[in-house]
Amino acid sequence: MTILITGGNGGLGSGIGRYFLEKDPEAKVWLGVRSNRSQAEALAAEFSGRCGLVDLEVTSKESWENAVAAILEADGRLDVLVNNAGLHRDHLLATMPDEAWTSVISANLDAVFLGCRAVIRPMMGQRFGRIINISSLSAILPPLGQTNYAAAKAGVVALTQTLAKEVARAGITVNAILPGYIATEALAHMDEEAAKRAKAGIPMRRFGTPAEVASAVLFLACHDAGYVTGSALKIDGGIF
Ligand code: NDP
Repeated sequence: MTILITGGNGGLGSGIGRYFLEKDPEAKVWLGVRSNRSQAEALAAEFSGRCGLVDLEVTSKESWENAVAAILEADGRLDVLVNNAGLHRDHLLATMPDEAWTSVISANLDAVFLGCRAVIRPMMGQRFGRIINISSLSAILPPLGQTNYAAAKAGVVALTQTLAKEVARAGITVNAILPGYIATEALAHMDEEAAKRAKAGIPMRRFGTPAEVASAVLFLACHDAGYVTGSALKIDGGIF
């Protein structure tokens, strides 16, 4: 099984990659990277021959075309796309700079559209494909300051549900995962006090781990999950 994970240098992206490599001996993992690549390179070195890096700026149509073409040339197929890359730029709407809106919509929503469109034809040709879109709990329970991020991530859920119907007869499933707080760099902006307050609002009283999201990605990617499509699975320690 050949898997492409965008944002492959990030906490969740590299965690999902590691999980596939450790749990599925047949997995060939491609980590999409742009500027930062140290974590991805370390994983590729550890699982030499089964894990590679591919340049992928997810907001660029051309970059998607090049990345997918490189994978198809190397492996002859692409079974799983995990649209994981994303970022947030929180501001109250009244004072939100244009750039904070456009960059967040672009990296979290436009990118998922571009990625799905880039892989859909090869997956249709294979009569098999798994697309797993990493949305966020913010899509259904948005905090203040995230109009941009919540709109993008809710858009990802809507895109997922619609595309799932469009490709259901082609052997392709499309699902979304909505993580709550997962301990990665994305939470690095929180000081100790903010982290304590956040944990107090989580029934499990702790942040999740990348492996706890990755296990759901692995399930959705497997052959036997072929009847699960258009789902939005939240992984949030019971918040919602
Ligand atoms: P990180 O900040 O650790 O990683 C984000 C990754 O996305 C980085 O590798 C980054 O690359 C990449 N990225 C961002 N923009 C682009 C772009 N335009 N092109 C290519 N790559 C890009 O965050 P997480 O691993 O925590 O987040 C992964 C996903 O999970 C995101 O979609 C996020 O919204 C979602 N999520 C995370 C939660 C959490 O609590 N951690 C909760 C809910 C959802 P680079 O390093 O080069 O900038």
